[in-house]
Amino acid sequence: MASTCDFCGRTEEGDQPLTWSTAVENGRQRTFCETCSREHLRAMESKLDSEWW
Ligand SMILES: [Zn+2]
Repeated sequence: MASTCDFCGRTEEGDQPLTWSTAVENGRQRTFCETCSREHLRAMESKLDSEWW
């Protein structure tokens, strides 16, 4: 089973790498690769939305 980044479309063979992360947005699960996770985290931190924590 391959993992696909929902943000940039990057695909990784096999299990999802530990550096990747998943988040639930609007009830849908999103998968982010290493790069996009970092970008996403920064966006979340700037928002500081209590929903995430
Ligand atoms: Zn990505």
